[in-house]
Amino acid sequence: MKKIAVLTSGGDAPGMNAAVRAVVRKGIYEGLQIAGVYNGYQGLIQGKIEQLELGSVGDIIQRGGTMLRSARSPEFMTEEGRAEAVRQLHANGIDGLVVIGGDGSFRGAYELVKLGIPCVCVPATIDNDINGTQFTIGFDSALNTVIDAIDKIRDTATSHERTFIIEVMGRDAGDLALWSGLAGGAETILIPEEGFAIDEIITRLQSGSGRGKKHSIIIVAEGVMTGSALAEVLKEKAGIETRVSVLGHIQRGGSPSARDRVIASQYGARAVEVLCEGRSGIAIGMQNNMVVDYDLDVVFNPSDHTFDKQLYKLSKELSI
Ligand code: ADP
Repeated sequence: MKKIAVLTSGGDAPGMNAAVRAVVRKGIYEGLQIAGVYNGYQGLIQGKIEQLELGSVGDIIQRGGTMLRSARSPEFMTEEGRAEAVRQLHANGIDGLVVIGGDGSFRGAYELVKLGIPCVCVPATIDNDINGTQFTIGFDSALNTVIDAIDKIRDTATSHERTFIIEVMGRDAGDLALWSGLAGGAETILIPEEGFAIDEIITRLQSGSGRGKKHSIIIVAEGVMTGSALAEVLKEKAGIETRVSVLGHIQRGGSPSARDRVIASQYGARAVEVLCEGRSGIAIGMQNNMVVDYDLDVVFNPSDHTFDKQLYKLSKELSI
């Protein structure tokens, strides 16, 4: 390994910059040349590649988004697009690639591995939905953004004695809803990994109001249904009036939390080490507070999903 490249791809996440910084600085520390690819796989196909120096990644550790910018690339989904990407990598003398992104980006990297390009993947998505790691970069920051919103909504819910439905992101995963619901003291948390009975929610809301509890917070993961769809069901079935708040893209932005900056630094540096060890087709992650690396196959194996059932059980016990 003499020269490696780094790119960010797919949905952005707070902490991506800290990971880019770690790849660049650790790479230079190891005596490598580092190239930055702009706009993900699309930029790779277009040859948007620049050499990065120590100073190129100064003053970015605290910034949300990604200085390398991100993109979704339908062209990279084609054989011709990927062949052009490989050509660009060879033309720029690049021996290995660090891909920072979500599982779609990992699939893209897997295709490059099959074409003979050594790749290591760093998980960065607010959804925390990558198999084989307990934490992705961006999850903790998004979680803090959601909790901040819940706390604020709770103030008005209490003042006006209202039930609020808060819809949070997460695609098909419920982690953001579960963790934020638990940390924000929500009365009800709906996540795609666990079924729910609407009658049970209605009974809880009614028995709460029977006890004099006039406000309630319901967190619904976008993978279950929209907040407004849930509001409609509650109104139709039981005449329960709610207010809906859809947090949307604010969850993807903002300065990364301390924890995200730390794990992004660890993951980025480990990715460089793994490439230097001559390995490829590997993902970096966290298990029981230890940085781990594992085969990309694990990411694509649905049976390895890391949903925390104990945490869900606890959230139910604490919101009686
Ligand atoms: P994320 O990485 O956040 O999950 P996407 O699913 O949009 O985001 O994936 C990002 C990009 O990765 C896509 O635009 C595409 O270029 C590439 N990609 C995704 N899936 C594949 C695949 N099966 N084969 C090749 N490239 C893929």
